[in-house]
Amino acid sequence: MTASQPAAATDTARPKLAFRPLPVPQVDVRGFWGDRVDAVAAKTAGILYDRCVEARMLEQIDPDRPSPGVVIPFHSPSPDEADEQGAEFTGSTVTTQMFWDSDWGKTIETAAYSLYRRRNPELEKKIDAVIDMYGKLQQEDGYLSSWYQRIQPGLRWTNLRDCHELYCAGHLIEGAVAYYQATGKRKLLDIMCRYADHIADTFGPELGKKKGYCGHEEIELALVKLARVTGEKKYMDLAKYFIDQRGLEPHYFDEEARARGADPKAYHFKTYEYNQSHKPVREQDKVVGHAVRAMYLYSGMADIATEYGDDSLRAALDRLWDDLTTKSLYVTGGIGPSAHNEGFTSDYDLPNETAYAETCASVGLVFWASRMLGMGPNARYADMMERALYNGSISGLSLDGSLFFYENPLESRGGHHRWKWHRCPCCPPNIGRMVASIGSYFYGLADDALAVHLYGDSTARFEIAGRPVSLVQTSNYPWDGAVAIEVEAEAPIAFTLHLRIPAWCRNAALKVNGKMVDLAAATSDGYAAIRREWQKGDRVELDLEMSMARLFANPEVRQDIGRVALARGPLIYCVEETDNGGGLHRIALPREAKLEAHAEPNLLGGIVTLSAIGSRAGTENWGSDLYRPEPPATEETTLKAVPYFAWDNRDPGEMLVWLREG
Ligand SMILES: [Zn+2]
Repeated sequence: MTASQPAAATDTARPKLAFRPLPVPQVDVRGFWGDRVDAVAAKTAGILYDRCVEARMLEQIDPDRPSPGVVIPFHSPSPDEADEQGAEFTGSTVTTQMFWDSDWGKTIETAAYSLYRRRNPELEKKIDAVIDMYGKLQQEDGYLSSWYQRIQPGLRWTNLRDCHELYCAGHLIEGAVAYYQATGKRKLLDIMCRYADHIADTFGPELGKKKGYCGHEEIELALVKLARVTGEKKYMDLAKYFIDQRGLEPHYFDEEARARGADPKAYHFKTYEYNQSHKPVREQDKVVGHAVRAMYLYSGMADIATEYGDDSLRAALDRLWDDLTTKSLYVTGGIGPSAHNEGFTSDYDLPNETAYAETCASVGLVFWASRMLGMGPNARYADMMERALYNGSISGLSLDGSLFFYENPLESRGGHHRWKWHRCPCCPPNIGRMVASIGSYFYGLADDALAVHLYGDSTARFEIAGRPVSLVQTSNYPWDGAVAIEVEAEAPIAFTLHLRIPAWCRNAALKVNGKMVDLAAATSDGYAAIRREWQKGDRVELDLEMSMARLFANPEVRQDIGRVALARGPLIYCVEETDNGGGLHRIALPREAKLEAHAEPNLLGGIVTLSAIGSRAGTENWGSDLYRPEPPATEETTLKAVPYFAWDNRDPGEMLVWLREG
């Protein structure tokens, strides 16, 4: 297979210090992430394809088959038709959804990264056939949407607010870039370039072009990827246009509704906060609306801020980051507590049992955080990326790679389990593609610097000043914080190596070739910088103490007051019924109880568990009273906690993250 080197976008104004992720094929992961990528490559990728077929998605995209849906007369979609849950139209033979192209896009992307990991000619053939169908479906002018060509012909570009048209294009573009990078095959990339050219001919500031943007952000970050892989600046400029245009008055979604003969006020979600178009993006300071949309928008904004050195975008992003991380973030890195808008509500509203915390939203936070790192190494973003990665996102995938959470609550009475599939199947391929591409989140490469954002057994290959360098990490992270890094360069080469010192780590030590580095002097923004002429065989040793911690929530969080969450390193822990018996709400953990860590290589694929002596309120001697003037008797109990991401992989039962303290 060909590992292609992406060309940098040819923008002479781009900041010299922009850090770009390494393409997936340039990083081999082993250890913790290696196991997860293997599960996706061995199972998830094939499952995604099979379940898309079972959902009859092939019938929507295959021009050689009869259209699966019914042609419906033009009308403004009712909430039942157009809301995020599904826009379902039941035709004579099949129920079809307007965002199925996005599920194909993400499935292709997952398959692409998986094929790189593990050859699978059978899956590759199936994906090639899907790509052939899209090739046949594409119109002369480049337009490509299975929904608007097969289900609602004649209505393209009439309802950007509700109908996911550019969103679907974005996911197919991401799939195309990934498939090209992983297999060297250009067919889908060429198809999507033709479509992107058509989109660029349709939207933009020039006279006669539409001034719109998508109700579900995604096209922006996808066009940045396309620009980076093709070197075509016009795709970057189009991404910037969509971002600049969002929320300007007169409001495009109002005008578009009127043009359809609909009342703009008859919008199901009432406010344009739902899709973050309530005001221009540079004026936004509050994270609002649908969580996945918000994360995708901020990801695109961060890319554009990086590529154009746009400080006004960066300032807005920093305000939004502050707002999210100080008021609306679950301790697991989950976001968006409400099912109603699949998103944000009010400050400090973080219910545990009813947490929506969609898998896609945590994946989106990983996307956003990783792109903030494009503007330079800063542990503020990387620590949060790590938290979302190790907790609230990968909880969405069973350890064997076959089952999926849509919601990721922090408390369960025993009835919440992973799905085989979902009627709105956005999460399975989203977590699949993120895990399969994890290598690209490990590093950021600038002209003469490499930032190490994530630790773990892995090998990275990259070029600095046109000279090949490889970097080998040896570590049992996240179970152990000792990381050895060997730099292998053919000839001596000078560059700066930035190493993240996570905020959760209370004691860190750094050595270069056995010599201790003064960490306090070397560290800024949470990254230690080592600049030297690197020689073959140079060895860096970083020792991060895997501290165990009790975490407490801001007292404004009503659901968590008087409660404590357990953490070790980047991992958040939970207790499960299978280890602790039922009635987890009756368990309490005293403030002074000693926490112990235990390596359990045979449990859940090999994890470190935590234990402590706590107490449990008994029910045996309580009787049938509902209320009594005396408290219940308590007994001592040993509680055992496992990493949150691994819950619901054994016997079904209760789960709890925030333990009662006392
Ligand atoms: Zn989802």
